[in-house]
Amino acid sequence: MFDTLLRHCNLPDGRTDIDIGITGGRIAAVAPHLPGPAGEEIDAGGQLVSPPFVDAHFHMDSTLSYGLPRVNQSGTLLEGIALWGELKPLLVQEAIVERALAYCDWAVAKGLLAIRSHVDVCDPRLLATEALLHVRERVKPYLDLQLVAFPQDGVLRAPGALDNLRRALDMGVDVVGGIPHFERTMADGAASVRLLCEEAASRGLRVDMHCDESDDPLSRHIETLASESVRLGLQGRVTGSHLTSMHSMDNYYVSKLLPLMREAGVAAIANPLINITLQGRHDTYPKRRGMTRVPELLAAGIPVAFGHDCVMDPWYGLGSGDMLEVAHMGLHVAQMTGQDGIRACFQAVTATPAAILGLDGYGLEPGCRADLVLLQAADPVEAIRLRATRLLVMRAGKVIARTAPATATLSLPERPGEVDFRLHRKKV
Ligand SMILES: [Zn+2]
Repeated sequence: MFDTLLRHCNLPDGRTDIDIGITGGRIAAVAPHLPGPAGEEIDAGGQLVSPPFVDAHFHMDSTLSYGLPRVNQSGTLLEGIALWGELKPLLVQEAIVERALAYCDWAVAKGLLAIRSHVDVCDPRLLATEALLHVRERVKPYLDLQLVAFPQDGVLRAPGALDNLRRALDMGVDVVGGIPHFERTMADGAASVRLLCEEAASRGLRVDMHCDESDDPLSRHIETLASESVRLGLQGRVTGSHLTSMHSMDNYYVSKLLPLMREAGVAAIANPLINITLQGRHDTYPKRRGMTRVPELLAAGIPVAFGHDCVMDPWYGLGSGDMLEVAHMGLHVAQMTGQDGIRACFQAVTATPAAILGLDGYGLEPGCRADLVLLQAADPVEAIRLRATRLLVMRAGKVIARTAPATATLSLPERPGEVDFRLHRKKV
């Protein structure tokens, strides 16, 4: 007998009317018409049951700090970095913890149960690092928080940054970060990539760098990142975040770069909401989109995830932890509006980032941890279109969040009743 039985589920892979049996916090069986009774039965009613959303790129040390100490007037990346520099000396640990926990509440309500967050390690007090290590433990029962040691001001450019980064890793930060395009020269940027990859290799850690986050077609640190991955045997453990310069690169160069990334086992993370907002700021018209080449990366066999990057911080004043909003923007910017493209964008906020983070027991196979989201939608395409309500969120077989279904009732005399936003086509 199962502890819990979810009846009549549609799955992201297209299977319909499937039952999911859960025992001891893990998925025990996935098949049509599983035998009951169970401790509890939940009728999914032909709606989508997905593994939880995963955000592969976030900044939890700055989230929900919008307006502190002032608002970003130009809306640019560089004013955002300067503003963060003004805020850093004013930060206190309890406030960072409080804001991070509040964001995790939003995340859980939206079915987002795993987040890779960069944490700025340039402050010698390592205040934010300590705060987020504390938050990582606090949320562990319900959310996987993976931390990246991120030298925001440049590991070579900022005095003491390498030492601080090493201290943060000693304290238990999970992943090595970097920002080569923010170093003073291309040569320094390449040197920083080598240095940081060696640090990761010697510690057996993964790498995730902010890489080429600019519109400069000659910003090519991704090439160094890929070749260092091969040299140090880090294949499958290295990620390039943003890669926005690829949008502006020469096509011939990209035709060489993509196979190199594929051979090096380097994954890519685009951050559609932020890339479309921050890039192209030096352009008049035509104005570049500034997101990396998502369909081309996917076609070359390179895993691509979408990250939220920022929610209400010095760089971005919007957002609510909704990865369907991220996928929705991503498919528009990348022009991935075909059915396969939209499904790939759903993957980019679920299974692909789970693989990039190396999450254990993620998925809907028997044996996986019973982490699930029931959405008010029939399939992944409808989920993105409607930014569907998360009716129920489950962690290890226990319901941890519920949201009432979104409905609207018309009081038009000619057409009274509930509005149904699904497409019911009866005639051509
Ligand atoms: Zn970032």
